[in-house]
Amino acid sequence: MVQKTALFNPEELLRMDGIDELRRMRAEPNPFWNRPRLEVTWQLPVQSGFLEQRHITLEPMRLATRDELLSYHDISYIETLELFGNTGSAFSSRFGLDTDECPVFQDVHRYASYPVGASIDAVMGVAEGRFRNAVSFYGGLHHAMEDKAAGFCYYNDCVVAIKRFRERFPNKRVLYLDTDVHHGDGTQDAFYSDPNVLTISMHELSMGFFPGTGQPEETGEGEGKGYSVNIPLPPLTGDVEFWGAFEDVVVPIWLAYKPDLVFWEVGGDAHMKDPLADLMLTYDTYQRMAATVKQLTHLMNSGLVVVGGGGYDPVATAKIWMVVLSNIADVPLPPTPPLDWIKLCQKYGLEMKRGGWTDRPIRTEEEHYPKIMRALDETIKKIRDLIFPIHGL
Ligand SMILES: [Zn+2]
Repeated sequence: MVQKTALFNPEELLRMDGIDELRRMRAEPNPFWNRPRLEVTWQLPVQSGFLEQRHITLEPMRLATRDELLSYHDISYIETLELFGNTGSAFSSRFGLDTDECPVFQDVHRYASYPVGASIDAVMGVAEGRFRNAVSFYGGLHHAMEDKAAGFCYYNDCVVAIKRFRERFPNKRVLYLDTDVHHGDGTQDAFYSDPNVLTISMHELSMGFFPGTGQPEETGEGEGKGYSVNIPLPPLTGDVEFWGAFEDVVVPIWLAYKPDLVFWEVGGDAHMKDPLADLMLTYDTYQRMAATVKQLTHLMNSGLVVVGGGGYDPVATAKIWMVVLSNIADVPLPPTPPLDWIKLCQKYGLEMKRGGWTDRPIRTEEEHYPKIMRALDETIKKIRDLIFPIHGL
């Protein structure tokens, strides 16, 4: 029997109309919780016929239970979202709610709970051998803290799913790899003193850039010292420099750690077209990264769960996740994105210059290049000093 890739189907989430109500209430669309972004990213594999591929099995996203959310989140926070999520309350600000990024809106508790249910099912399905690996585009809400919403994230599906996995399999170790352009602060925070969950985050770090954490010196505490790895990248970092850091830092630590499960948060917002960030990655890096992640999990015989995360250019994000899915599931990409999908993007007024799966890198101005390289060399040196010896490297 062919072992399949589970792809989590967001149709029930997409059927709710809270995000449409939210759009009507605000002058500007929410960059994350808006229908064009969710529809365009989901419809690319649908229109490409991926759902009918024999290597892919569709799994429904389901709501996480209160018990599951309690594996990480604070009960007063959960109750506030459950009871007052639609309208807000006097307590909203205490929990980071009712802000521009984390607004209260109709059914917000349900919108936030679906990704958690999916990530738990993804992890358990892989751990129990029901799927070869799993992909959930709408997970990866890595900024949510125990009792606080932040950066479009209400519940942290990564943390809850990894905690459930560790409760069930206490002897197994997890590598959490975060290549979203923003620091995976919520997930790092949850496992900061836990050597059984190694977190690695590659992210932009610059003046005023959200969330502002993720320095190489943040290495974990207590028994977890050396198990939080941060690779900050300067603005304008491109494919070559990013990939150099991946090979020099991520790969050796990964091989030394020998995880049983890899949980990869692959936000599409490090792409050069992302409107909220300043890195210069092209689809090539995502292609290379997906192939490498798959190869390493295969080599180490570990399970693999992939979640989406950020990405605020819906067209670029859709293509990135499609490239990743194609690699993870061993399903070739169609020669070009399907016409019906291009029409859907046009219906939402999204810019669509190139139709294919590659893009031309924007060359970083010569004067920036040495600065970027110097900053990265310094970061890699720090990580080699602070982290490598703990892993026998
Ligand atoms: Zn992000």
